[in-house]
Amino acid sequence: SYLLGRRSEQNYSRRIEEMRVEEQKQAYEARSMKLEKEAADQANRAKSAFLAEMSHEIRTPINAVLGMNEIILRESTQAKSTAEGDNREAFGNISTYARNIESAGSSLLAIINDILDLSRIEAGKMEITEGEYRLGSVLNDLNNMISFKAKEKGLDFIIDVDKSLPGALIGDEVRVRQVMINLLNNAVKYTERGSVRMTLRGKVQDPPAILLIFTVEDTGIGIRPEDMGNLYKKFQRLDMEQNSTVEGTGLGLAITRRLLEMMDGTIDLKSEYGKGSVFTVTIPQKISSPEPVGDFRTSIQESGIRGDLFLAPDARILIVDDTKLNLKVAVLLLKNTQMHIDTADSSEEALVLTDTNAYDLILMDQRMPKMDGTETLRLIRTGSDSLNRETPVICLSADAVFGAREHYIAEGFTDYLSKPVDSQVLEEMIMRYLPAGKVSRAPEPLSPPQTASLYLDGSSSCGHDALRQAGISPEHGLNYCGGDEQIYQSLLEEYVRSSGEKIRSLRKSYEEKDWNTYAVVVHSVRSSSKMIGASALSDIAAGLEKAADEKDTAGIERDHLRLLVLYEAAAAAIRSTVEFTEDPQADDEIMEFLPK
Ligand code: ADP
Repeated sequence: SYLLGRRSEQNYSRRIEEMRVEEQKQAYEARSMKLEKEAADQANRAKSAFLAEMSHEIRTPINAVLGMNEIILRESTQAKSTAEGDNREAFGNISTYARNIESAGSSLLAIINDILDLSRIEAGKMEITEGEYRLGSVLNDLNNMISFKAKEKGLDFIIDVDKSLPGALIGDEVRVRQVMINLLNNAVKYTERGSVRMTLRGKVQDPPAILLIFTVEDTGIGIRPEDMGNLYKKFQRLDMEQNSTVEGTGLGLAITRRLLEMMDGTIDLKSEYGKGSVFTVTIPQKISSPEPVGDFRTSIQESGIRGDLFLAPDARILIVDDTKLNLKVAVLLLKNTQMHIDTADSSEEALVLTDTNAYDLILMDQRMPKMDGTETLRLIRTGSDSLNRETPVICLSADAVFGAREHYIAEGFTDYLSKPVDSQVLEEMIMRYLPAGKVSRAPEPLSPPQTASLYLDGSSSCGHDALRQAGISPEHGLNYCGGDEQIYQSLLEEYVRSSGEKIRSLRKSYEEKDWNTYAVVVHSVRSSSKMIGASALSDIAAGLEKAADEKDTAGIERDHLRLLVLYEAAAAAIRSTVEFTEDPQADDEIMEFLPK
């Protein structure tokens, strides 16, 4: 019994020892798994950040290639029309090659954009930014994009939208569009005959919110039940025996699902293989105005018109903005409405004008030196004999943050528009607040598209080439000026004139780590660059503005020099092309009204 006792004691202590070792092993494994997971997460984030950075870098030269190619296409097409014999054939061939470059380049750009989006999402850098938007304009754009593609493939494209849906919503318009476009594009891509039907319904929720229910139904190849689990995985394409000729990356649905998750939405699929698929997504959005979106067909026609939506020859409005160029362009963009438009470039001038004239509407810039828009509004409204006590005053301001509208309305403004102001939104807003008796709908397109002819004009296009090489797209810039070359030239002049001061101020605030000043200056570089068509530069400035707002020193250090170099290069390129008309009175800021 002694021996047995010893044995069981030994067994017992061995068991304890074994357990201890086992426990240690487990703790060690858990620790190393945690470390491995951390390392993997870190590597994954680094990969996503790298991809995001790379795809951003790749986009700029692709855009340059596509831009130059566009010129080749235009010039060869034009040359072909006047050439004869062999030359004619040669120019014809060049056009064909350029068209191939365009198609391949656009696909490449689409792939890069998808990779950029996905890596931004994975690196936690994609944010949902809410703002007010018009549902009708989203639907209109979807229709324009998809009906063309569907027609090319001989498919019917049916749109069925509930007319009572609210016309103005609050949410991330860009991402809502992206989700809808992805699903519609897929439906067209994976359908050879039959139809694509898009349905939009809504479920009202409180507080004033709506659950959009968006359905895309196609009569295409469908999806096998066993493939459904792989549908939302990245880089996953299905049924490749059938789809080998269809272009795609397998990223669209992965992005779509993640965007929906970020917006608290859902996605669901019903499909019968060989018969077709029905994708249903829900997206909660806030309601900005319950006014119904109305007859979508008329909305399509109306928004298809470039130019002015209404005529109001008896209306008199005042636009107040300290940037003269802003005033100039606003007047130009609204010219065809026949309104009587007064402008004031300071609050003092606005007060003088409102003392003597009764206006039907006032557009008021918020950020002005000396006296801001809110203060000016108060003075206009308070005078006991004020002629404009009841006049609707719309606030224009660049702080497009969520809640800005409520804030300015609480301050006494009638409504709010965020800058840069889209000209269509501007017109709709003006039309809404002018006295009904003074407004009539424009009967037909009033202003023909003006930009097209500019590219064929040899004299201006050589200057434009130099701009393009510096990453400035004159097409975009001109677009911001309603196609008016003269206004564009003055924009460019202004851009150069103010660049020296801005560069100095950027350098100084950078050295002093004065991120508040830095944010203000880089904001104006962002908007002015966008206006002249320097979008890559504007994007970098936007990133820096965000970094400066967040006091993210590392983020600023990363891009500061790049911004300065590109900014100086852009200014130099403009200097080499633009003939300066000396105007010492010119503002140092660029206008912020966007055309459609
Ligand atoms: P892709 O770039 O390949 O279109 P997506 O992520 O958008 O990538 O879609 C993933 C895969 O899901 C596609 O490759 C295709 O096989 C399948 N798919 C997506 N939409 C449809 C549809 N409407 N009908 C049939 N198959 C579809």
